[in-house]
Amino acid sequence: MSLAHLKSLIRTIPDFPKAGIRFRDVSSLLVDAAGFAEAVERMASIAPQDIDLVAGIEARGFIFAGAIAGKIDAGVLMVRKGGKLPGPAMGRDYALEYGEDRLEIHDGQIPAGSRVLLVDDLIATGGTALTSCRLIEDAGAEVAGAVFLIDLPDLGGAQRLRDSGLDTHALLT
Ligand code: IMP
Repeated sequence: MSLAHLKSLIRTIPDFPKAGIRFRDVSSLLVDAAGFAEAVERMASIAPQDIDLVAGIEARGFIFAGAIAGKIDAGVLMVRKGGKLPGPAMGRDYALEYGEDRLEIHDGQIPAGSRVLLVDDLIATGGTALTSCRLIEDAGAEVAGAVFLIDLPDLGGAQRLRDSGLDTHALLT
């Protein structure tokens, strides 16, 4: 399947979650079995090698992180919105495109020396991904790279990640 066809499976919803925002909706790709499989295969193939844990960012990042982890024999680390993890957690507050939020991970779930791959459906300003990286680093692990299905280059997030030294990849722009 071509990248152009993959891209055509992602629909754009105007004025969501507020007026003037064009929301890239991956749910239309997820319901297409061949499209989802192709996206996961391609995301896994552009990711750095020798990954121990794939960190998925809530919520759509979980879907891609789980599928990629299955392909590369890695575990899955959930990066969750604040207050949702049941066990003791560490967190960071951050500003995002549509307001403010907090991301958390469970304490003690990243073995020392792990190489972590960060995964999300989309990178816009990069605030969510950068905060996730810092959080994983706070836990003492190395973020080996980041893979996104979609990059919105006008918002500069992927470039911010690269400027911070992170090996950053996106399938579609
Ligand atoms: P950033 O922090 O500005 O890079 O925003 C990225 C985060 O917001 C990711 O977790 C995305 O899932 C979500 N997001 C922002 N814009 C969109 C969109 O148009 N479609 C889907 N997710 C989006």
